[in-house]
Amino acid sequence: MSFNSEVKEELVSLRLGESCCALAEISALSLCLASFSIRGRGEVLLNYTSLSPTVAKRPLRILRFFGYKNIGMSTRRDNRFGGRRFTVLTLSGNDARAMMQRVGVLRFEKGEFKFRNIPQRTVRRICCQRAYIRGMFLGVGNISPPEKAYHAEFALPDKKRAEFLQRTLHLQNMEFSIYKRRGSYIVYSKNSGEIASLLATMGAVRALLHFEDIRMLSQVKTEVQRSVNCDQANLSRQIATAQKQLEHIDYISKLVGLTALPESLQQLARLRISYPDYSLKQLGSILEPAKSKASVSRMFKQIEEFANNISEHKPTTSREVKT
Ligand SMILES: [Zn+2]
Repeated sequence: MSFNSEVKEELVSLRLGESCCALAEISALSLCLASFSIRGRGEVLLNYTSLSPTVAKRPLRILRFFGYKNIGMSTRRDNRFGGRRFTVLTLSGNDARAMMQRVGVLRFEKGEFKFRNIPQRTVRRICCQRAYIRGMFLGVGNISPPEKAYHAEFALPDKKRAEFLQRTLHLQNMEFSIYKRRGSYIVYSKNSGEIASLLATMGAVRALLHFEDIRMLSQVKTEVQRSVNCDQANLSRQIATAQKQLEHIDYISKLVGLTALPESLQQLARLRISYPDYSLKQLGSILEPAKSKASVSRMFKQIEEFANNISEHKPTTSREVKT
């Protein structure tokens, strides 16, 4: 199951709570999913249409919560949805009129019903703002799997509804942006913090835990990568240092021979030649007797000085020394 379906499945299963919130949620769902038609003899039908049978369960539950018993339910296929199956819930007659009145998002004009803006009172309370956002997400929301990308969006057909949602999200301390895509207004965020807040606000606790697990894992990965890069830099420095040391040793070896060095430095020089990739600490540990990193560093300093000295006092002998 996709992360998006996971979130929606969890939201659908949440209990409805206060009737103010149920009303706010069905208002949002109505703006996203509802349409109406008039049958012969002037009978009004209110339809909630969803491509997701899971999502369709939510308006069904809320309509029942408000006491509507006669709710028609059918699944159909339609070319408008690319031949895909979709679920339709239908209220008819007085029930349909009463529901539209209750929600307050529809008005009757010139013989037909039209949507009107959501009344502000619907989302006046904090609890209702959350329910409204949840309804909107169930209706037109989509969230990407956190393993792939941080992206949450709501696709709305007009600017007013998009801006109303943006304001409602803002009231819940979430900052979402809007852009236009193929005739739709997309209210979206790519910020992982905002998306986590969205899940929390809607009450998708299980999905939030999943999301936070992935978010934490990717933070750990970033940390590991950073430390790998750091190790890489250390390694490069170590190689450059060893290269310098080998040059000094080679110089001494060619001009006066390694035997010209004091016993302990001679031993270190030979070990460096055998183990060019060892760190100072590693070389120190195989010296006899073992020496600290700082001591080894000082000894290399002495080798360097020795090499500098012979270059200043021109060599008197030059012999090949087998190393
Ligand atoms: Zn409420």
